[in-house]
Amino acid sequence: MVVVMAGNASEESTANVIGKLTEMNFDVHRSTGVNQTVLGAVGDKRGLDPRLIEVMPGVQKVVRVSEPYKLASRTVQPEDTVIKVKDVSIGGDKLVMMAGPCSVEGRDEIREIAATIARAGASVLRGGAYKPRTSPYSFQGLGEEGLKYLSEAATENGMVSVSEVMESGQIPALLEHVDILQVGARNMQNFSLLRELGKVRKPVLLKRGLSATIEELLMAAEYIMAGGNFEVILCERGIRTFEKYTRNTLDLSAIPVVKKLSHLPIIADPSHATGRRDKVAPMARASIAAGTDGLMIEVHQQPEMAMSDGPQSLYPEQFQKLMGELEIIAQAVGKKW
Ligand code: PEP
Ligand code: MN
Repeated sequence: MVVVMAGNASEESTANVIGKLTEMNFDVHRSTGVNQTVLGAVGDKRGLDPRLIEVMPGVQKVVRVSEPYKLASRTVQPEDTVIKVKDVSIGGDKLVMMAGPCSVEGRDEIREIAATIARAGASVLRGGAYKPRTSPYSFQGLGEEGLKYLSEAATENGMVSVSEVMESGQIPALLEHVDILQVGARNMQNFSLLRELGKVRKPVLLKRGLSATIEELLMAAEYIMAGGNFEVILCERGIRTFEKYTRNTLDLSAIPVVKKLSHLPIIADPSHATGRRDKVAPMARASIAAGTDGLMIEVHQQPEMAMSDGPQSLYPEQFQKLMGELEIIAQAVGKKW
């Protein structure tokens, strides 16, 4: 942490700041310039709120040098984390394709779509059984029954499964039936849920909150990792901006930013990011070019009849065509399918 004292700060103020930092177990290095004094505070205090120092008399600004997250940081682990789920590897030079309907709607429906997307090359089957809907009157998901259908459809097609957990009470059912537990955008900062997921021994797919900064996303991952679960997959699914044409704004730059800051895999979800079927393929292509470790895409055999997110769900033929295009881009950026 670097503390810049104001030009007119008194010697007493500077001494007070040095005293406070020393009290907090920092090693303080003082550099006195012609116009300003700068204090370098060295010590591993990730949880420290810099405002504690910022509000002291005579302080102009405080600049944090190290990241507040530790386990998620590339400084702590320089090499990429690769998560193995059965035969599927997530992270490193492998690309993972997760696809499926927004919600599990029925046994036959999920089995049919799973067979189609597995043929097209997807290895992870998605489908919500507990749905976070904006309206309490909308379809809320099939619950545990839906998880069973999802799991059966995934196994039948040699895929692994991912589904959303909305609250701690649902964790046992998810652990019993699915391979990867998803934390939705609306729950990214549900710290008690994150803590509970720190105790489980299955990978967690953590989606970026609607208005979360990249640092907040990494801090949410840190919660899970601090509990002992190091298998966290991050997901950029679009953030809320002033733009209204698309459902959200896909923050593509988050991909290379996260890649630099963290060793955790990050995938992109162009379906929830754009909310429109015709925008999914271009943003999926762009995400691969930007260095994502994988994609999550909503696909439905009859999107116009879907119980949720039909307008952003691809038709199976569109998904198949997209997979062919993505393979070419993947090769160009050195990723293996
Ligand atoms: C989902 O993937 O089904 C979902 C609800 O996504 P998000 O949390 O990103 O809105
Ligand atoms: Mn959806």
